[in-house]
Amino acid sequence: MKYHKGTDRSITNKWERRTQMLRAGTTRSDFDEMSEALFMTSGYSYDCAEEAEGRFAGERQGHTYSRQTNPTVSMFEERMAILEGADIGRATATGMAAMSASILCQVKAGDHVLAARALFGSNRWLMDELLPRYGVETTVIDGTNLDNWQNAVQPNTKILFAESPANPTLEIVDIRALAEIAHSHEARLIVDNAFASPALQQPMSFGADIVCYSATKHIDGQGRAMGGIILCDKDFDEEYLYPYFRHTGVIMSPFNAWIMLKSLETLELRVGAMCDNAELLAHAIKPRIDDVRYPGFEDFKQKALVKAQMKRGGTMVTFVLPKGRDQAFAFLNALQLVDISNNLGDSRSIATHCWSTTHKALSEDARLELGITPGLIRFSVGLEDPKDLIADVLQALAVAGL
Ligand SMILES: *Cc1c(COP(=O)(O)O)cnc(C)c1O
Repeated sequence: MKYHKGTDRSITNKWERRTQMLRAGTTRSDFDEMSEALFMTSGYSYDCAEEAEGRFAGERQGHTYSRQTNPTVSMFEERMAILEGADIGRATATGMAAMSASILCQVKAGDHVLAARALFGSNRWLMDELLPRYGVETTVIDGTNLDNWQNAVQPNTKILFAESPANPTLEIVDIRALAEIAHSHEARLIVDNAFASPALQQPMSFGADIVCYSATKHIDGQGRAMGGIILCDKDFDEEYLYPYFRHTGVIMSPFNAWIMLKSLETLELRVGAMCDNAELLAHAIKPRIDDVRYPGFEDFKQKALVKAQMKRGGTMVTFVLPKGRDQAFAFLNALQLVDISNNLGDSRSIATHCWSTTHKALSEDARLELGITPGLIRFSVGLEDPKDLIADVLQALAVAGL
């Protein structure tokens, strides 16, 4: 490694966030390349046997095997850690690899995990299906009410887990208050920050112990590559995360890490422009639909928390068509520009019918309890010209009778 200013925290910590998104974590090889190098290599060679022995013992710096570390992946991990204010980042193959690893690396049978019930479908599956199978007790609660968290904490609670804003209901949790509850019970708070992205919210600055992302969403943001990342402190990494990470093989591929590095360069610009569009779209459809949820609205029911935790209202707008599934399908099928898809945070706008797709694995009762009704549309606002975007949505609403 030749150039190391990007990894000198005494330098990078002074940079503004946009500068960090471009340059933090960057190292350079002997070729002095400007753009981050893509190291597609599984292994590494050693000048002598002592060097190999030293690296395996952790006494000498350097990589040993790309299931553990890789120079391109390390650049992405370091850039994300600097952005979050974390000691360590561990990049994973997908967002769900990050969520599951962040939990599984630290729990054992007999422990308890407490989570907000408003979760991405696969996160709910971890709580409802996977963890109980291994003897880990789980409870899901309405996370918007702090009393629920207080009342549900048990002596064996090891983790509090929440998304904020939640997918797709856009519920917000009070991250600072949750961190206090967790710490007063010697538990850790994990926040899935995929919806806000690093551009809008830093959960660690409010006391979260572990922050996870689906990098597939805003971080790639161009619908190309899967990825995830776990951010944490050094002690947690050493004791729990790194052993799990290296021995179970959840690491991100170097190629995807390279894509994520390129994407981070424009993250703040993209998310800013997507928020501009989301605000315009949310206001444009509000006169036609009673139930439009957008955290950027002045009358959003958790506005005070949004203002305290998020820079802006975000890129996601959720609305409910009053006549249910048939009306939602009529709307989706009438869209001419916006895609029907289930990704989010993409540069292209996407409309999702969560009832029949992303959240279908939940029972009907669980969906209804979360407020995921047959008429609900999750709308990920992209970078199209807002005139085209709004025109398309309004004409599709008209076809659906709104
Ligand atoms: C998409 C998503 C995930 C899962 O990420 P993948 O990259 O698809 O595995 C987890 N949490 C939230 C909130 C998400 O939106």
